[in-house]
Amino acid sequence: MLLYGLGAIAVIAFTFFYLFFYRNWRRQRHLEQPFPDRWRSVLQSMVPLYRRLPASLARQLEQHIQLFLAEKDFYGCDGFDVTERVRVAIAGHACLLIMARRYSDYDEVQSILVYPDAYHVRSVASDGLVVSERSQIRAGEASSRGQVVLAWAECENAIREPDEAHNVILHEFAHQLDYLDGTADGAPPLSGEQTRHWQSTMTRAYENLRHSLHHRHPWLDPYGATEPAEFFAVLTEAFFQQPSHLRTEQPGVYQALCDFYRVDPQSFHG
Ligand SMILES: [Zn+2]
Repeated sequence: MLLYGLGAIAVIAFTFFYLFFYRNWRRQRHLEQPFPDRWRSVLQSMVPLYRRLPASLARQLEQHIQLFLAEKDFYGCDGFDVTERVRVAIAGHACLLIMARRYSDYDEVQSILVYPDAYHVRSVASDGLVVSERSQIRAGEASSRGQVVLAWAECENAIREPDEAHNVILHEFAHQLDYLDGTADGAPPLSGEQTRHWQSTMTRAYENLRHSLHHRHPWLDPYGATEPAEFFAVLTEAFFQQPSHLRTEQPGVYQALCDFYRVDPQSFHG
């Protein structure tokens, strides 16, 4: 019994030491390394928004990218070769979301799986009598267990069209921020007044989108109307890719996103 007690104390002490000292010390060591020029040129060609950022935000983004590349595991699927260019481009977009927030928002993200192209997922369901099989084609997905899956061809489409609404990397990493408070409910962690403002603004906007789906051009990709978690992910894409459009259509939603992300992308779209 005494041994179990001592063992438990040792585990708690080690976790405390790791979380508060070792991890911070190790991160500090990574940040002391100069940011490689070749990563900077990848960002310039692959992360269009990077070129427009004010110097202080660009510096913060670079620091987050340094930690992201040092800590997250990348895996190529279906024979895909995850080159340095691919890793920097994905890290660059993922970290755009948290460039004015703390890097620890991504502490739970452990691995990024990259397929060359949209990939098939097969699922089997049984009701006891009939087994049905479904096959779906996906551009990406995010799991609450710290995994993000991306189809590189879809990432490249987003990189080529930085002013179009879609960006699968921003979308899947927005889901990771949504998971931070333990539920994928379309509300990332907020506090006090921010929570009340978020709930009333987003509930109204979500209902508004659902009712405007019969319009020829709804103000947001209709996929955002499937559930609140998708609403937040699709809104995040629009916020960074088409800020002027979103701000004109939904000023309250735009402001709530500015408060959460702590940046105003319209100011650097110019
Ligand atoms: Zn989604």
